[in-house]
Amino acid sequence: MFRINMSHLSRDDLRERVAMVRAVEERVRTPVPVLVDLQGPKLRVGTFSGDKAEINVGDTFVLDDDPSPGDAKRVHLPHPEILSALEPEHVVIIDDGKLRLVVEDVVPGKKATTRVVVGGTISNRKGVSLPDTQIPVSAMTPKDRSDLEAAMDVGVDWVALSFVQRPEDIAEVKKVTRGRALVLAKIEKPQALTRLDEIMEISDALMVARGDLGVELPLERVPGIQKRITRGARRLGKPVIVATQMLESMITAPVPTRAEVSDVATAVYEGADAVMLSAESAAGQFPIEAVSTMDRIAQQVEQEELYWTIIASQQAEPEATGSDAIAAAAHRIADTLGINVICAWTSSGATAMRIARERPNSTIIALTPSRDAARRAQLGWGVHPVMTRDAHDVDDMTFRACKFAVRTGLAKVGERVIVVAGVPFGTPGATNMVRIAFIKQEHADAA
Ligand code: PGA
Ligand code: MN
Repeated sequence: MFRINMSHLSRDDLRERVAMVRAVEERVRTPVPVLVDLQGPKLRVGTFSGDKAEINVGDTFVLDDDPSPGDAKRVHLPHPEILSALEPEHVVIIDDGKLRLVVEDVVPGKKATTRVVVGGTISNRKGVSLPDTQIPVSAMTPKDRSDLEAAMDVGVDWVALSFVQRPEDIAEVKKVTRGRALVLAKIEKPQALTRLDEIMEISDALMVARGDLGVELPLERVPGIQKRITRGARRLGKPVIVATQMLESMITAPVPTRAEVSDVATAVYEGADAVMLSAESAAGQFPIEAVSTMDRIAQQVEQEELYWTIIASQQAEPEATGSDAIAAAAHRIADTLGINVICAWTSSGATAMRIARERPNSTIIALTPSRDAARRAQLGWGVHPVMTRDAHDVDDMTFRACKFAVRTGLAKVGERVIVVAGVPFGTPGATNMVRIAFIKQEHADAA
């Protein structure tokens, strides 16, 4: 999947990037999803005369509503709603944790007087994080709304929202997307953790956004939160992405540190659906090496025997639905017979996602007539989407499942595959059939 981060781009850049990905998708002949990442309510201070100022531990420093350039005593905070929401004892973090202030006194809507706890240089338009303050602003800024509209125009597969605080934030995005794209919640604020279950429930996928999470919370809490989010998402069967600084040193070096390799491996051992690169691939000197390094780590972990023990230990019970019962049955059959491929006929991709929730030791081939479903399902753990027209009967369904298992190189003549479907065809949510099929020469000939 490609993430397009709107923190750094305009609507025109977005169109250009999406066109690039679609052209590559055509060439590689495999569904490639695009995730558009909305910047969200990123707060910043105003400017300084001379572009910066020195503030020292113990100093008083004021954030106010006066747009004139700041100095070592004060600066403009161009967000009146924040000046109304700050309260004494709230922490104000500036420039990704380089500076730290504590609010002592407020004149609501006008100014907040703070004490400098960690001092240093503060410069123009540096980012502001507020771990203690419930921010009473809409989840989407005017820029986000305009970016989202552009994303819907070009037709993207996933939309991510940054700095989610509450489930209503995701609901607001969904009101615009109306099913045209799936919606991912980036968990990067402590406020989101207090309502994590509800946010996970309403979102289609999650991201452990460790960059901002590590600014707003003590760094040592991030690993535990990563485990909480990945396990919660696995239990719900929703894709989860582990993001930020995974191979950070590869921005400037062709090989990663041992600790970074271990970090990527840990996310894979935990059962994450995806691991993400940021600056490594967006602006680094070794983007191709970074991607292939990540790929090699993931492939190796999946070959370790302990990996499957660890994955199985986090297995969630099937929910009481036909499709979960079938998914669990397919998993069991694959284990019992040592089958490497489960083919799932699916119109929305949901059946493939429920099988992925089982984390079987087999590749899940999602067979679907829908380009959108194929692209969306690509994010799922172990899911290999293939576009093909709907099957007209059970024989056709079995024949083509065998054919694609051979064509993708995942199975050979003489092996068995599992076929999952809902019959009659074309009724979404009616998964009710699981079948064991033998791959014959005729399937290989057709492939
Ligand atoms: P960002 O989000 O790269 O858009 O900041 C990810 C993170 O904060 O980790
Ligand atoms: Mn972030």
